[in-house]
Amino acid sequence: MTDKKFVYFFGDNQTEGSNKMKHLLGGKGANLAEMANLGVPVPPGFTISTEACVLYMKNNDYPEGMWDEIDKNIDKLEESTGKKFGDPENPLLSSVRSGAPISMPGMMDTVLNLGLNDKTVRGLAKRTDNEWFAYDSYRRFIMMFSDVVLGIDTDEFENIIQQKKDELGVTEDTELGTNTMKDLVEEFKSVYKEKTSSDFPQKIKQQLKMAINAVFNSWNNERAKKYRQLNDISDELGTAVNVQAMVFGNMGETSGTGVAFTRNPATGEKEFYGEYLTNAQGEDVVAGIRTPKSVQTLKDNMPDVYRQLDDITQKLEQHYKDMQDIEFTIEKGKLYMLQTRNAKRTAAAALKVAVDMVHENLINKNEAVMRLKPSQIDQVLHPMIDPNSELELLSSGLAASPGAAVGKVVFSAEHAEEMAQNNEEVILVRTETSPEDIGGMHAAKGVLTVRGGMTSHAAVVARGMGKPCVCGCDGINIDMNEGVFTAKGYTINEGECISIDGSEGKIYMGEAELKMPNVSGELETMLQWADDIRSLNVRTNADTPEDAKLARDFGAEGIGLCRTEHMFFGEERIPVVREMIMADNKEDREKALQKLQPMQKDDFLDIFRAMDGYPITVRLLDPPLHEFLPNYEDLIEKIKKLESEGGKQEEINRVNDLLKNVDALKETNPMLGHRGCRLGITYPEIYEMQTKAIIEAACELASEGTDVIPEIMIPLVSNEKELDFVKKTVTDTAESVMNEKGTNIDYLCGTMIELPRAALTADKIAKGAEFFSFGTNDLTQTAFGYSRDDAGKFLPLYIDKGILESDPFAVLDQEGVGELMKIGIDKGRSSRPDIKMGICGEHGGDPESISFSYEAGLNYVSCSPYRVPIARLASAQAVLKEEK
Ligand code: PEP
Ligand code: MG
Repeated sequence: MTDKKFVYFFGDNQTEGSNKMKHLLGGKGANLAEMANLGVPVPPGFTISTEACVLYMKNNDYPEGMWDEIDKNIDKLEESTGKKFGDPENPLLSSVRSGAPISMPGMMDTVLNLGLNDKTVRGLAKRTDNEWFAYDSYRRFIMMFSDVVLGIDTDEFENIIQQKKDELGVTEDTELGTNTMKDLVEEFKSVYKEKTSSDFPQKIKQQLKMAINAVFNSWNNERAKKYRQLNDISDELGTAVNVQAMVFGNMGETSGTGVAFTRNPATGEKEFYGEYLTNAQGEDVVAGIRTPKSVQTLKDNMPDVYRQLDDITQKLEQHYKDMQDIEFTIEKGKLYMLQTRNAKRTAAAALKVAVDMVHENLINKNEAVMRLKPSQIDQVLHPMIDPNSELELLSSGLAASPGAAVGKVVFSAEHAEEMAQNNEEVILVRTETSPEDIGGMHAAKGVLTVRGGMTSHAAVVARGMGKPCVCGCDGINIDMNEGVFTAKGYTINEGECISIDGSEGKIYMGEAELKMPNVSGELETMLQWADDIRSLNVRTNADTPEDAKLARDFGAEGIGLCRTEHMFFGEERIPVVREMIMADNKEDREKALQKLQPMQKDDFLDIFRAMDGYPITVRLLDPPLHEFLPNYEDLIEKIKKLESEGGKQEEINRVNDLLKNVDALKETNPMLGHRGCRLGITYPEIYEMQTKAIIEAACELASEGTDVIPEIMIPLVSNEKELDFVKKTVTDTAESVMNEKGTNIDYLCGTMIELPRAALTADKIAKGAEFFSFGTNDLTQTAFGYSRDDAGKFLPLYIDKGILESDPFAVLDQEGVGELMKIGIDKGRSSRPDIKMGICGEHGGDPESISFSYEAGLNYVSCSPYRVPIARLASAQAVLKEEK
């Protein structure tokens, strides 16, 4: 015998556990004990601890002493109820339920009425004077036991019930007579025997042992394992088993069973909300066979019970200081509580409940701020697919940009723009997008790509635009020639309607009903509380005045990344950009740049105005130049077409010239090629033009009284000499503009840290850089050696096989990339202690990565506009978690 205690009694003033023991008793067991301690009527029972489960798993055998303890607790239970297991006169019946420390779907759930056999069923019938009820309970027990303990499909039993109903011409279970119930019991036992080659167990201890075994084993079934893996739950926790005396909701019209919430779980409204059925057992309410009644009707049907239930639920909510989800049973007018737990709720409800509870003095503001998952803010800011829509799921991909959209399928950006001009709502479906597709993406309601990960072009741009996007959806095949895509055996033509859900990464056939979330002032209240707590600044990644304004409305405190390349794709600009790229000499290039400069300045004027008083980090041109040229294959096609259709020679020559340039600029590995500051070194005039546009805009606005704080950022630096070289272009140009304008602008010049070598030599780089912004997209790409554009091909498998926990382009890899950041931060501060540092890769909007950024000592995070509220909340939570 060991001294270890594995079994804890609850109820009848002998409760041994409490809510503080969730780890040992599981959520259900701990809450049952807590309710019993609070004097809430709970049928007595006992909980076998998670520790017993863990030992059972480890040793493939029950821990020593566990069964003795169970026997003693059975004695206690028998004493407390005045009934006995297996007693043919007055049988004790129990439920057996699993209960992990963290609620976990996929595990064995519930067996009711354990303790019935051919003898005790008669005892039950006699004692309750209700033979029908006794046999109904027995047939339910056989069915549930067979299903959850032995995995026999419930259809095997349901079909028999249906046959009986058909034979008798009735529709409800309750219309089957007592003799039919008895027949059902016999037939169910035969099914059991046929499936297991054994008789249905008549010994109660054997029933109990089999049920306990099934709970323990369900901890390691595939569904449970998968759920733990997806939700980051340790395999070491184990599950508890709750054995509890049965109370019966199916003993006539003064009995019943129900589920209820202390507040409305969809809206958060403070109203007692729930459903119940009279003359029914637990599973009937959720099974949907009978239509339950609103719990409000209980007020008229059983006013005393309603009053008691209302009192108890209020007491529970006050005690737990959170909205509760409860299960209750009424046995012949007497109320019992079977479960209470913190209720699952929609994001809108979570927000309202948290804010209301502060106003009700139930929780404080810090607690309220911890009550909302930052990612839930997505749901309250974007339209959602009505959960009641019944749509055919076509395929799934990455949930790249949240929200839902409905529209007609289009396969090209131009077509998307044309259709949008005719007021048609479209979804742009592409193998992958490129900067050329920006116009089409803007025109579309949502974007769907076959390839690409969380930082693919489509994902980044869609998030920036606040457009729903599903990426890397390799379950669909686009056939451009036919103008169709196929998925799951369906063929969807261009022009047909689909619905996409960018919060879930799902694509549906047809037109979904969209629901606009209803956000009132609660989100603002919550975010104000978060602002009072956080110390990290939150900026935005924005490259249009619209995005800058939107982000500011969401609370952004500046721009952390303005990608200037997106400004070059406008209809009137792309020809000039191409002229610049195709120029044979510096002079021609400068001519083209001179045409671009006023356009670029205009962009900055509006963006700077929108961010009056806040810093704006403008990144000089980063992508390889060929991104501004047409696609090689498209040009070949165009030439072929021109030739076959007798097009003008002049036009053929022009396209041929373009083709030569595209060919000359082609790179095997463009992500590691001629881009970033390398462009500024080979073509200093490009950065010169951009600096001029920035400083001229700032000077102009300064004279208008707008407070502009530009931070000029140089991309893809790996060596301090690169920075020094480019910085000279920037400072010389800025000086000359300021002299010319007679205005002094307090601008900064800094760099991105987005290559491992830059992080490792950050002390040297910091000597020339007035700020660092960690470009964790490229840093992830180069630290792992995973191409941003192609990693989507293997990352899902890596995650599935457990090689990676999550997509490192979405959630920062703290162990590797994070370590490089820490080195960069330490080294940077070692040579420039007051250096300002932030993060502007996609991770700047991911709550976990924000927490890391705070702990690592960054000054700000920067993310797409729609993520600004998420980042405000996540930064506050990072502070509160650290204080804990
Ligand atoms: C980065 O690399 O993290 C970054 C922000 O720049 P981009 O995504 O534009 O390369
Ligand atoms: Mg980058």
